[in-house]
Amino acid sequence: MSSRKNRYPYQAALIFGVPGAGKGTQGDILTVVPGFYHLSSGVIFRKLDPQSPDGRIIREYSARGELVPDEVTVRVFLNWLEAQRAARRYQPSEELLLLDGIPRNVNQCEMLQKYIDVKLLLHFVCHDEEAMIERIRRRAALENRVDDADESVTRRRFEVYHRETQPVLDFYSEGVVREIDSMQRPAAVLRDCLKSLVPVIEDCYPVD
Ligand code: ADP
Repeated sequence: MSSRKNRYPYQAALIFGVPGAGKGTQGDILTVVPGFYHLSSGVIFRKLDPQSPDGRIIREYSARGELVPDEVTVRVFLNWLEAQRAARRYQPSEELLLLDGIPRNVNQCEMLQKYIDVKLLLHFVCHDEEAMIERIRRRAALENRVDDADESVTRRRFEVYHRETQPVLDFYSEGVVREIDSMQRPAAVLRDCLKSLVPVIEDCYPVD
């Protein structure tokens, strides 16, 4: 019999902010800390076979810097999440899900409401978008991403963020939102994330 704790909704924290704010860097660090499980929708999308029907749609939208349609996004994400859980890589009774890149608009928040219980939203605040664009330019040289290579696509992603993603901040109650200064060095960003995350895991997964 599966434990009650393994059923929906899964307890989650969202890592939220403009492209280039360093969400993936922090997610990669935190996922090696016991108690956290990081999933990035962008990373999931890039792992799909680009020749598959979903892979083709995803590539088409992301190459333009636009959001992939919500039905495809949520279905691919939930399938991936369940596969990780079934393989016991993600253990909902012990690990806080750290989501990066999803939900990315208010409709996705509504579609995911019954699957995830958002305990915390870490808002990576950045007052210098040109610095973020510069970070993405440097990353393009390292990562071979279709959406990083062309600066007009990068700028389009910022427009889409302001128009479609920023309203997600108002969907969740103010009490779960914490602002993190993403212009700091990665170690300082990590310290600030942990200050908010540790009390959440202590509360969600008490030691017997
Ligand atoms: P970044 O945060 O640097 O813009 P991501 O790796 O999170 O990049 O996403 C890359 C692209 O994948 C996005 O520009 C978008 O096309 C697509 N994508 C990722 N997550 C979502 C989502 N939740 N909804 C719709 N499209 C998404």
